[in-house]
Amino acid sequence: MSSLGFHNLFNRASSFHGVRVVRFFLEKTDRIYSPDAFIPQKMDIFSRQDRLLKGFDALFFSVSFELDYINILKMLSLSSIPPLVSERKMAKPLIIVGGVTATANPYILSAFSDIVFTGDMDGKIEEILNVLTENNFHKNHTLLERLSGIEGVFIHGRTAVPVRSITNNISRPAHSVVLTGGTSFSNMFLIEIVRGCKSSCAFCMTRCASGPVRIIQERYILDRVDKALRHTSRVGLIGPVLTDNDCLTGIVRGINEAGGQVSFSSLRADDFNEGVAGLLVENRQNTVTFAPETGSYRLRKRIGKTMTDESLLKAVSIAVEHGIKRFRYYIMYGLPEEKMEDIKATAEIVNETVRLFKNPGCRLHLSINPFVPKKGTPLETERIYPEEYYLKMQEVLRNGLNRTDCVSLKFDSLRYFYIHCLLSTGDADDAVSLYNYFIKGTISSFGKYAMEKLLR
Ligand code: SF4
Repeated sequence: MSSLGFHNLFNRASSFHGVRVVRFFLEKTDRIYSPDAFIPQKMDIFSRQDRLLKGFDALFFSVSFELDYINILKMLSLSSIPPLVSERKMAKPLIIVGGVTATANPYILSAFSDIVFTGDMDGKIEEILNVLTENNFHKNHTLLERLSGIEGVFIHGRTAVPVRSITNNISRPAHSVVLTGGTSFSNMFLIEIVRGCKSSCAFCMTRCASGPVRIIQERYILDRVDKALRHTSRVGLIGPVLTDNDCLTGIVRGINEAGGQVSFSSLRADDFNEGVAGLLVENRQNTVTFAPETGSYRLRKRIGKTMTDESLLKAVSIAVEHGIKRFRYYIMYGLPEEKMEDIKATAEIVNETVRLFKNPGCRLHLSINPFVPKKGTPLETERIYPEEYYLKMQEVLRNGLNRTDCVSLKFDSLRYFYIHCLLSTGDADDAVSLYNYFIKGTISSFGKYAMEKLLR
């Protein structure tokens, strides 16, 4: 619900003449839910016999996480729409999938979608809707031929090579168009201040799916925030690394002067200084997140991360001096060429961090995930390890921590890990396999299939 890509598309498509847009979400209970069903002027849509997705002309899915492909299958199946393109003979709805993972690997999603959009759809949505409305959304040769001429549109069998669409000079930054309670960013107006990233870490999809870095000008941001402050005082700044926008200080000052309070999503330890710490404190942000990925500098360099142990610890030290008490590290394990010493080095950097906690109440939360090779990145073809390896390394890391009273960590189950890896790097045949397991209700067997395939 908080995805800015989703909000951006909803906003732009809703203002397109002759198009009505309704949002749908899949709940944890596997029920399809639409918050828009309660808006009176949209009741005509929901008074139809067919209340689910089948009655629509087009369905747009925005995905940023590979395991959500299973949720697409669920939504289509619940709506009696055959999920495989090869089995979908109906003229409507046309299924279009975009988002970061779709951009990185359009091939796998092409099994389920008529069109995969690669890149920034905000620059092309009007063009796409023009073609769709002129053809009355009828999926036929003419429609697909015209769509395939739009940059970013990937149609399996028609498009030779995916060409990513890039929106340069972003004058309309993506922002929240609906404020919702009960979400991770409850009633917070989110706005992007940078797209892409100045760094190029070898494991990260940002470079291949969201690059190059585009800095959004302060005036475009403050103009949008000004309007949003009529509805909420909470403003969340979004971007892969906020300090990539050189105007960060000016943006924060501008929002504060207009009466808003800022929340910061992601900061790079190398850029963290007294000034940034001051901004956080003034905005009553008590948590700082850094992503060292590993405590081993050798391994960090291997995966293209330039952060040194010194810059990380210095950043924490500055934050502690400013009274910040909550810290979060993003950590990976199971990295290429990883050795047990590297895991011990991760435990050690955590121990060193805790030694800097001079104020009572300081806590460090470790968000730990096994490395998942991502399509389109330099580490795409790196091998992953058997399950026992990950379990062993979890134990090594846990045993290496000196102070568990101020460190929290939780390892997620590896149940979906191999599925995640295969959906990240796989192709249309893997998507068909996923579907075959899905319709038999045996997704866990697909996990076994994925593990065997990846470890072969
Ligand atoms: S700094 Fe973060 S967002 Fe940027 S490339 Fe590295 S991991 Fe990706």
